[in-house]
Amino acid sequence: MNFSNSEQLYKEAQEVILGGVNSPSRAYKGVGGGTPVFMEKASGAYFWDADGNKYIDYLAAYGPIITGHAHPHVTKAIQNAAADGVLYGTPTVYENKFAGMLQNAIPSLEKVRFVNSGTEAVMTTIRVTRAYTGRNKIIKFAGCYHGHSDLVLVAAGSGPSTTGNPDSAGVTKNIAEEVITVPFNDLSGFKEALNHFGKEIAGVLVEPIVGNFGIVEPEPGFLEAVNDLSRANGSLVIYDEVITAFRFMYGGAQNLLEIEPDLTALGKIIGGGLPIGAYGGRQDIMEQISPLGPAYQAGTMAGNPASIRAGIACLEVLQTPGVYDKMDQLGRKLEEGILKAAEDHNIPAVVNRLRGALTVYFDVDKVSNFEDAESSSTDMFAAFFKKMLVRGINLAPSKFEALFLTSAHTEEDINKTIHIVEEVFAEGLEEYEI
Ligand code: PMP
Repeated sequence: MNFSNSEQLYKEAQEVILGGVNSPSRAYKGVGGGTPVFMEKASGAYFWDADGNKYIDYLAAYGPIITGHAHPHVTKAIQNAAADGVLYGTPTVYENKFAGMLQNAIPSLEKVRFVNSGTEAVMTTIRVTRAYTGRNKIIKFAGCYHGHSDLVLVAAGSGPSTTGNPDSAGVTKNIAEEVITVPFNDLSGFKEALNHFGKEIAGVLVEPIVGNFGIVEPEPGFLEAVNDLSRANGSLVIYDEVITAFRFMYGGAQNLLEIEPDLTALGKIIGGGLPIGAYGGRQDIMEQISPLGPAYQAGTMAGNPASIRAGIACLEVLQTPGVYDKMDQLGRKLEEGILKAAEDHNIPAVVNRLRGALTVYFDVDKVSNFEDAESSSTDMFAAFFKKMLVRGINLAPSKFEALFLTSAHTEEDINKTIHIVEEVFAEGLEEYEI
């Protein structure tokens, strides 16, 4: 494959855009750098780059593109929205319907508010827990990503009974002192944090099924205990379902796991590819928000008709019978193909998969928390990513991200992908530069 146009675009980008990219992972930091491929167009399960190379896409824009790129129903909704004007700054005739669809799908959303990103959604849920409880601190879990607001850019301290350290320049020590980070699936660590900080804890924030150090499910009983212990302590439970809502089924991870939080943050899929976030939950808690309550949250773009109409269309597509089963079947086939190729070629790979989302880790026995995921081989993943890319398979450029199936992927795409995985594993995963 020739990447000369991407190389030229990357050079030019670095002159005008900080770092040449608008989100850091796009610079292939997680896979040792290199020239990011500049995409020009996308349709269904495919991308075409600036050099005319075609790819099968498993990035799905980090999750939102579950119907495949430019799905006709979603595209039509966006076209109609564009023709009707994309931003009003008023209530619109579309938003009640969409809020109702979300509420029907995820019943814990007694009241909903639309924002513009997952970051905003999570940030606001944290504010609401503080407003409601009158407490300051939150507990979160190591490796779960919750956007880039200050409070969630805090890394673990030295243990569950210590507060955190800033995980980004510009986040103050004072802010880090409001956050306790404990390992996912570690109930004793969670109990220690909760016991130690007790009535200081306003909220407990968790991805109910992790998507940010690969796909990692909660161990049986873990979330139930988190919910029960938090509530017994007077702390609210927030599920960050920015990745998980509508990923595995029509509804959230909370539907799949049959367990409800007090508040939920949403994003990604619910915008059908346009910018969106939403949060919601128990009515009495949500009533903390302005204009009903004292906690402030607003947005010029919030509930804009383009994102809302794209979101409605996306959910309509996802209501088609069989959509999720197909992603599950293709996901299973891909998992089996990868594991078989790994066995045939002595590549130490494990796959964590839930329905249409999976992560391939190298050189680790199992992954059930962030530490496990961290200890998997970055070098082997980097070689895997690059060798797949130059053969026309676009994966997420980090060992911590998932591969996502979409409703547009076909059995033929999966067969082709497995064939390429076999070729790559046969060649081996030693270092590879592009
Ligand atoms: N929460 C989770 C679980 C996420 O995965 C992300 C983004 N990857 C966010 C929040 C932040 O969402 P956004 O990028 O839309 O701000």
